Amino acid sequence: MTTFSVAIDGPAGAGKSTIAKMVSRRLNFIYVDTGAMYRAFGLYCVDNNIPLDEERIKNIVDDVIITIEYFDNEQQVLLNGKNVTVFIRSSEASSMASAVSVFKCVRLKLIELQRKLASQTNVVMDGRDIGTFVLPHANLKIYLNASIEIRASRRCKELHEKGIETDVASIKEEIIERDGRDMNREFAPLRKADNAIELDTSNMSISQVTEEIVRLFEEKVK
Ligand code: C5P
Repeated sequence: MTTFSVAIDGPAGAGKSTIAKMVSRRLNFIYVDTGAMYRAFGLYCVDNNIPLDEERIKNIVDDVIITIEYFDNEQQVLLNGKNVTVFIRSSEASSMASAVSVFKCVRLKLIELQRKLASQTNVVMDGRDIGTFVLPHANLKIYLNASIEIRASRRCKELHEKGIETDVASIKEEIIERDGRDMNREFAPLRKADNAIELDTSNMSISQVTEEIVRLFEEKVK
C-alpha cells in the first residue's frame, strides 16, 4: 500500500505539534506526535525509578509497551495499557523524555513503531529525526524554527493553558538544554534534512504556516 507522509522536525517550542495537527486535518491524514512516545518512555523510567544508565535502560526496554490510539481524532498514548496522555506534559516528563531519547535502544524501539504507523496510513509526523532518519522518503519535509524568545513564551502559554504554572526564564533554560541534547546526541540527532524546507514561524500565524505547508505538499505530490 502506498502511503503519503509529511515530516515536521524542529527544536522544542517551534510550534510543531500545533501545526502538524492543523496540517493533518487539512489533508485528512493521521497526526503522529512522536515526542509523546519519548515522554511516555520517560514517564516509565520516573515511575519505576530506572536510573539513566544505558545498560539499565537496555534491560528494561522490552518491558515498556507503548501504543498509540485515536479518540475523537486526538492521539492517545498508552503505556503498558494505561492511558498516560495527560501525565506526559509536565516539565519532569519533558526532561526525562529528553534524557532517555539519547539512548539508541530507546530510539530504535520507538522508530519501529513510528515507521509501522506511517506504513499503514497517511501521516503528518512531528519530531526531531523524522525527515533525517524515521521517514527518509517522506513526500514533504519541513524544518520548523522560531527565535528562542518566541519558543519559550509559546511553551509557557501552552503549559499555562494546561494548568501548569511556570515562567518564561526557566522554560527558556529548559528548552536550550533539551535542544542541545537533541542536536548533539550521537544517534539520529536533530538537524535539518538536506531536502527539508525551513520555515521560521516567529512572525507567522498558525494558519499562515498551515496553509504554506499544505501548499508545499500539494505542489510536491502533483
Ligand atoms: O516534541 P516533544 O517536546 O514532546 O518531545 C519531547 C522530547 O522527546 C524532546 O525534547 C526530544 O528529546 C525527544 N524526541 C526525540 N525524537 C523525536 C521526538 C522527540 O528525541 N522524534
